[in-house]
Amino acid sequence: MMVGESLVVSLCLSFRKASHVRLEWGGARAHSTLLHERGFVIGEKHRRGAEGWARLPAHACRPGMAVTRAMLATTAVGMSASLCRAVMEGLLTRWRTLPAQATCRLQLSGSIPCGLHHCASGRRKRLVLSRMFQPQNLREDQVLSLEGRSGELTCKSQRLMLQVGLIHPASPGCYHLLPYTVRAMEKLVRVIDQEMQAIGGQKVNMPSLSSAELWRATNRWDLMGKELLRLRDRHGKEYCLGPTHEEAVTALVASQKTLSYKQLPFLLYQVTRKFRDEPRPRFGLLRGREFYMKDMYTFDSSTEAAWHTYSLVCGAYCSLFNRLGLPFVKVQADVGSIGGMMSHEFQLPVDVGEDQLAICPSCSFSANMETLDLSQMNCPVCQGPLTKTKGIEVGHTFYLGTKYSSIFNAQFTNVHGKPSLAEMGCYGLGVTRILAAAIEVLSTEDCIRWPGLLAPYQVCLIPPKRGSKEEGATELLGSLHDHIAEALPQLHGEVLLDDRTHLTIGNRLKDANKLGYPFVIIAGKRALEDPSHFEVWCQNTSEVVFLTKEGVVELLSTVQVV
Ligand code: ATP
Ligand code: MG
Repeated sequence: MMVGESLVVSLCLSFRKASHVRLEWGGARAHSTLLHERGFVIGEKHRRGAEGWARLPAHACRPGMAVTRAMLATTAVGMSASLCRAVMEGLLTRWRTLPAQATCRLQLSGSIPCGLHHCASGRRKRLVLSRMFQPQNLREDQVLSLEGRSGELTCKSQRLMLQVGLIHPASPGCYHLLPYTVRAMEKLVRVIDQEMQAIGGQKVNMPSLSSAELWRATNRWDLMGKELLRLRDRHGKEYCLGPTHEEAVTALVASQKTLSYKQLPFLLYQVTRKFRDEPRPRFGLLRGREFYMKDMYTFDSSTEAAWHTYSLVCGAYCSLFNRLGLPFVKVQADVGSIGGMMSHEFQLPVDVGEDQLAICPSCSFSANMETLDLSQMNCPVCQGPLTKTKGIEVGHTFYLGTKYSSIFNAQFTNVHGKPSLAEMGCYGLGVTRILAAAIEVLSTEDCIRWPGLLAPYQVCLIPPKRGSKEEGATELLGSLHDHIAEALPQLHGEVLLDDRTHLTIGNRLKDANKLGYPFVIIAGKRALEDPSHFEVWCQNTSEVVFLTKEGVVELLSTVQVV
């Protein structure tokens, strides 16, 4: 292999330590020798390999030298941007002293594709839309044909999520979650983690395969009926795919034989797939047969402590929905097959919801109608008339007492040195359901709107159409991208470039509007003014403003990312 070729393929500079530059390449051993001769320190491990790396002391590079057209992927750790640039420039000068072949290839490599990024020469990585995996491309001529399927499309969120390629149907009640949805879900999980850990939650991860013995112990192997997805292993041993984990977690805690009251409470939670053979899976992610749930199980040493924990978790749920900007009601609810002494649901009031709620406008009373005596439609607290509304249940809390701990013998040593059963609570949040419900509540008929914190990407940049009068503004938008990346590192990975420049700005704006990026920034005619003005669409305020590069950075500096 020729030296120049492989240098171009994988030249990558990264700044691991402030004092050194690390340089990686793939190719023949010849590089090592060559680089060694040029004063690079060659990594011991790789000296004989076809791949390798070299170190160069940062002080050996002089600032102020011109950058050539080379592919550079840089990550700065503990190094200021200007020092980074200086080191890069110095390095490039050294590359230029390599044989003509290498230099020549470096100069020819205008742009090189690498994954989702477009690595234009000498610039920062740019995330580009054309490389996104979205089976339903948004252009009207390619929009997923929903004809003949209208019977299945029972609500707005399901229709929109299918149309824009957020989900793809796999089998009844099961969906592939596509990249944008996974990004939004990962953000939601981060917010949930923050809220759960703020009240002392510890994250665990329990198996989805749950043995029949556990479920027989609580009699739920029979009680759950057809909802339980059952299977057998090669030895004939029976299992179900966990629809919830009270049995598993209580057996886990019971296996710890020397627990003391001093160690309690335990607030154990997980975010995992749940399986329920729903009689009527529908509404897309709102009611699936396989879905993500956050389930927390708490273990306390007394009823008072358990009630305190119950109110802490309810408080954390309120805080979560407030942070997401989702209007919710907490209603008293039925305990259902989970059982226990008391339960509340967190509901998003919306017409497509499957639950009927009764809310008292004069006092704080609100309940799921299942819990009320329907002959009496007045508020049991203030006797005033109740208002009825529909809701989507997004969270459910249960005070369980010792229902499960008594069966599995989950006990601890109390303050008197005697064994005592743990007082339990369990608390569910429908993770995938929250995503769909948020879209259901916030979106218009045609355009998805996200809770700001969960938007898969915060910013979409739209350069001019290829061959248009404004084409000259393409580079200006590129440099705006790099400016944002440098000034607002918190937005790393959040800025997407719609590089489908064969389409008009108008068409791409329509797509961006449908996908609901909180900020859409267009380089149109006014980008060619001096100074450049970019057209900024702010989804949350429905405003369109023209801002300079500095104005854009100031506006985006307020964006919250999780
Ligand atoms: P529902 O009455 O809607 O069937 P549930 O009372 O059976 O809900 P829980 O067992 O309390 O639900 O589960 C906790 C949370 O998991 C629910 O509040 C809901 O947000 C979510 N969830 C339950 N079933 C589904 C499902 N089939 N698809 C998506 N999310 C679900
Ligand atoms: Mg259910």
